[in-house]
Amino acid sequence: MEVSYFNRIRLRDDLTKSLERNEFFLDYQPIFDTLTRRPISVEALVRWQHPTDGVVGPNAFIATAESCDLIEELGAYVLYAACSEAMKWPVPLPVAVNISPKQLRSGRLPALIQECLLQTSFPAERLILEVTESVFLAETTRTLTQLAAIRARGVRLVLDDFGTGYSSLTYLRGFDVDGIKVDASFTRDIVQSQKVAAIVRTIARLACDMNVYVVAEGVETDEQLSWLEQNGIAFAQGYLLGRPQSPTKLQALLASYHSLG
Ligand code: C2E
Ligand code: MG
Ligand code: MG
Ligand code: MG
Repeated sequence: MEVSYFNRIRLRDDLTKSLERNEFFLDYQPIFDTLTRRPISVEALVRWQHPTDGVVGPNAFIATAESCDLIEELGAYVLYAACSEAMKWPVPLPVAVNISPKQLRSGRLPALIQECLLQTSFPAERLILEVTESVFLAETTRTLTQLAAIRARGVRLVLDDFGTGYSSLTYLRGFDVDGIKVDASFTRDIVQSQKVAAIVRTIARLACDMNVYVVAEGVETDEQLSWLEQNGIAFAQGYLLGRPQSPTKLQALLASYHSLG
């Protein structure tokens, strides 16, 4: 995205103020079991209630927050908000939080997570961190050590947007994860393209052999969901099954499944 110099300055100033003014909030998008069609976990997605521009999505501001060192503060807000909110759910499903590679730069992430779990009384086993493959572009021993330390405490790690990085298989080899999220660009073509279908089937087989679970992102049609179910992709996320929604709506949704027993 092309953003002019002045727009970037304005965005940076706005972002700084918005952290002070608590203008960020989280929507929650459920992830479903493709067989039972029931929610198994929930992803927290950050939004910004901009004073004049309305609700702004993360693609418009995460990169700027990263480049002007606001991402650590924003990331801390997201982590605390997601864990506190998930404590109120009628069913104790895991909550997934997106982590920017830049949050691993200072070395403070393991301590932040530990502190957050302590303060919110949220169990480590219910927390999932989603990292994109770009986390490995700046691969340093320190990055991997931090992620391994976090995982050793029981927090799960998932590779987000899987298949879009430069060397997806290398990342899988060099690093232990609990799950992978197959990028929406694969899901989009899964029914029409035999090539894409073959790739996703192979990813699923590989993941199964490595004892890693698979989520398909961006599921928008019944045909896609049926394909995933028939090809043994255990989990699915997308507008077809549930949009990102407010905490209140999410709670109602979880309660409605819960009451089904
Ligand atoms: P992501 O983690 O891969 O999240 C999936 C994105 O796809 C979300 O966009 C979600 O709303 C959207 N999506 C879900 N289902 C569908 C579907 O069926 N069709 C389509 N077309 N889109 C779907 P969103 O909320 O705009 O987030 C975009 C990206 O911003 C996320 O991609 C994630 O990388 C980043 N992000 C979101 N929240 C945070 C956060 O708290 N911290 C950090 N560092 N990054 C975040
Ligand atoms: Mg994600
Ligand atoms: Mg993704
Ligand atoms: Mg994405």
